[in-house]
Amino acid sequence: MTTDIKSLTREELKAQFKSWNEPAYRVTQLLEWLYARRAANWDAMTNLPKPLREKLRGTFSFNCLQLVLKQGAHDTTQKFLWKLADGALVESVLIPANPALYGESSDRHTLCISTQVGCAYGCKFCASGLDGWKRNLTPDEIVEQVLAVERAQMRNAECGMRNEKSDAPKLDTPHSALRAPRLIDNIVVMGMGEPLANYENLLKALKILNAPWGGGIGARKITISTSGLAPQIRRLAAEPLQFRLAISLHGATDAVRSRIMPVNRKHPLKELTAACEQYQIQKGRMLTFEYILIAGVNDSIEQTKPLAALAKKLFAKVNLIPYNTVEGLPWKRPGETACEAFLRALEKQKVPATLRREKGGDIDAACGQLRLKTERELPAR
Ligand code: SF4
Repeated sequence: MTTDIKSLTREELKAQFKSWNEPAYRVTQLLEWLYARRAANWDAMTNLPKPLREKLRGTFSFNCLQLVLKQGAHDTTQKFLWKLADGALVESVLIPANPALYGESSDRHTLCISTQVGCAYGCKFCASGLDGWKRNLTPDEIVEQVLAVERAQMRNAECGMRNEKSDAPKLDTPHSALRAPRLIDNIVVMGMGEPLANYENLLKALKILNAPWGGGIGARKITISTSGLAPQIRRLAAEPLQFRLAISLHGATDAVRSRIMPVNRKHPLKELTAACEQYQIQKGRMLTFEYILIAGVNDSIEQTKPLAALAKKLFAKVNLIPYNTVEGLPWKRPGETACEAFLRALEKQKVPATLRREKGGDIDAACGQLRLKTERELPAR
């Protein structure tokens, strides 16, 4: 399999161009086509000489994600189901201005991206793990989720412009490849897969999305979420980039966590807490605990005590997320009153906490749900 062009850093491209005796400014031009103009094929890169384009075409692949389905909720949360070059399916979710997520309220766009096809970690409440793990995403497949969503939004805007004004500028170059400001300014790595189980590819992708020559998205605007891979959290703590860390906690005692998250048997809370402390000390940043409220499992007021103790110890804020029912799984979402009571109990113990008044509940927004449903329906079509 040839390497995709979007899996390479500027330094790697520079070395390649040097070996071809191509001037360094050609790398800048190429990067502009890839990340500022979001070109979707080699032919769009009109200021690169044809022989160079041919050399690139013969050396690297250039895959773009193919949109299979797009679902939009009433509150404009949009879910994208993509087909990869080998036919595998992954999801990304675009969440415009979600103040409940990471604190600030603004008009920003957050994209939740996937890092694996399926997941090996088998959390009992999650649709992504239901059919097991298929493979890791490559760096370009992670980066492409941002570019592909932006391309899709640009195409929508173009269609709107054409419909509005018949003498509007013609924008029908391949995928337009126009320079446009970045739509996505926040990334949460919280889609399908356990991000830290695909460490190398994830880190490379995030470096590309963060670099000024690439996505230009600040490291502090990128949140990596993990189910609790303690050794990789320690490794991440030693990275120079200041990514935010979120822990998918979902239980504040080993008994509750081990019941719904098998990863806890390998890395119990004591080990996870120590790794988080190291991250906290090295980065000096507040952590986030994701806590899906599941009726009768982790939503009793009693549970707020160990949760509050852990949050205080690690200077973490808690995002409470009422469970999104997944077809074929027995778990239920608690009632609104129970969720509000859980939030108030945490606040009473002086823990910063938010309750997500769910966006996307009507679009199969639980992680992995749309992919699973589509994959199961496809053979029947
Ligand atoms: S919650 Fe995350 S780690 Fe757990 S099975 Fe789902 S995708 Fe994997």
